[in-house]
Amino acid sequence: MSHPLLFVDVDGPLNPFRAAPSDLEGYTSHRMRPEGWEYPAQPLDVRLNPDHGEELLALPYELVWATTWEHEANTMIGPVLGLPELPVVELPGWADAEHGLFFKTAVLAEYAQGRPFAWIDDGITERDRVWLARNHVADVLAHRIDPAVGLWEKDFDLLAEWPPALAALDFPG
Ligand SMILES: [Mg+2]
Repeated sequence: MSHPLLFVDVDGPLNPFRAAPSDLEGYTSHRMRPEGWEYPAQPLDVRLNPDHGEELLALPYELVWATTWEHEANTMIGPVLGLPELPVVELPGWADAEHGLFFKTAVLAEYAQGRPFAWIDDGITERDRVWLARNHVADVLAHRIDPAVGLWEKDFDLLAEWPPALAALDFPG
């Protein structure tokens, strides 16, 4: 069986934009000008931990970008982390979400085509988790990351442990 998908958001999990810079050990600072950034006169301060690429690649998932950076995640973020080019989910605008859901939720379920997936994002709420449990036929781990902290050891541990739990469900006894 192929690995589950892991949908990866940039701002929040990889770029903890609400953290005090002094709290971010192991991070490097970058000034970037992504096309979708709403204040093009000002570069965006992005803080990334170069170790996160290797840690993500070590997880038993197929990584997919699920971020408003879209294809610029591959050209701007991935190279800093040492990630290869990854598939990208193309996202609708913020206003297009229904049922009070986060705007990515239904799009990711559609992209997964019935496959199990994990998702790390600072925008996930309980409403998204409930909707996914009711509407996605396979298992989902929708894991909210605090944008004041970013991805942390316990998050990698949780992600590493989740797929074996699925395997146990697939092959009882
Ligand atoms: Mg985010």
